Amino acid sequence: MRNIQNILAQDSAQLSATLALDASTARIEVQCLLQRVLNVGRAWLLAHPEHCMDEATQTRYDELLRRRLLGEPLAYILGEREFFGLIFRVTPATLIPRPETELLVELALQRIPAPLPLAEEGGRKAGRGYEFRVLDLGTGSGAIALAIAHTCPAIQMLACDASADALAVARENAQRLSIGNSAFMQSDWYTALDDAQRFDLIVSNPPYVAVHDPHLQQGDLRFEPESALASGDDGLRDIRHIVAEAPAHLQPGGWLLLEHGYDQAARVRELLHSAGFDAIFSAHDMAGVERVSGGHA
Ligand code: GLN
Repeated sequence: MRNIQNILAQDSAQLSATLALDASTARIEVQCLLQRVLNVGRAWLLAHPEHCMDEATQTRYDELLRRRLLGEPLAYILGEREFFGLIFRVTPATLIPRPETELLVELALQRIPAPLPLAEEGGRKAGRGYEFRVLDLGTGSGAIALAIAHTCPAIQMLACDASADALAVARENAQRLSIGNSAFMQSDWYTALDDAQRFDLIVSNPPYVAVHDPHLQQGDLRFEPESALASGDDGLRDIRHIVAEAPAHLQPGGWLLLEHGYDQAARVRELLHSAGFDAIFSAHDMAGVERVSGGHA
């Protein structure tokens, strides 16, 4: 019977070899699977290398490991992923939140005034108070929208997605995280929006991978919704549409912030320029890649 120490050593080596993961990632993934079936925290696991699982637990673990060895993303097996310090439920209907997308959240937060301006200072009066409206296009699991809404409880977030299945996951996340200042709407980009409603900030992590990009056949991407990843021959089809239509949905001075591919920053800045945006910029993610671009109306 293998104890935890043996399992960690042997199974992380097998995972690493099978999926071409680096050794430390594979080890963390095996730890996550063990934590799930044993229902324990990381500290307990590290403190009990001699522990042997009972048979039922071992069977559950073997099944999770088998799925992971077939390439199924860890986030789908566990049904959750941490993003911006919050735990999000994720399913195969949603993209798995990526760490580099936290940059988009940080840039959005920098553009939300705190405290929000009063009406006499230029803030808008809404039904029950003053409103700063944020729109998240293609919300998926709701990770970006809910990270912003959770950090800024005074704003009003509208999170849209064309997929009803993704929206159900986003709504569930809002409930589980007790985030009340977010509404959800099924909309293919701007189509279902009220034309009279203008936003102070629009954020989006749209699909931006070229349809023939071989990355779509690799790793986690094979299991993720293609509608959340692929966007035409050059990966820019949806970004082009989002940028062109954004001015009609922004307040004067309102910001548009978009995540994009590692080699798309210059072309996205050009699209923003053509659509009449000002203060156009690109920001680097932790890997040093220009990952988010934006400008204001
Ligand atoms: N960053 C993702 C990837 O290539 C793509 C996500 C997207 O298209 N928005 O792994």
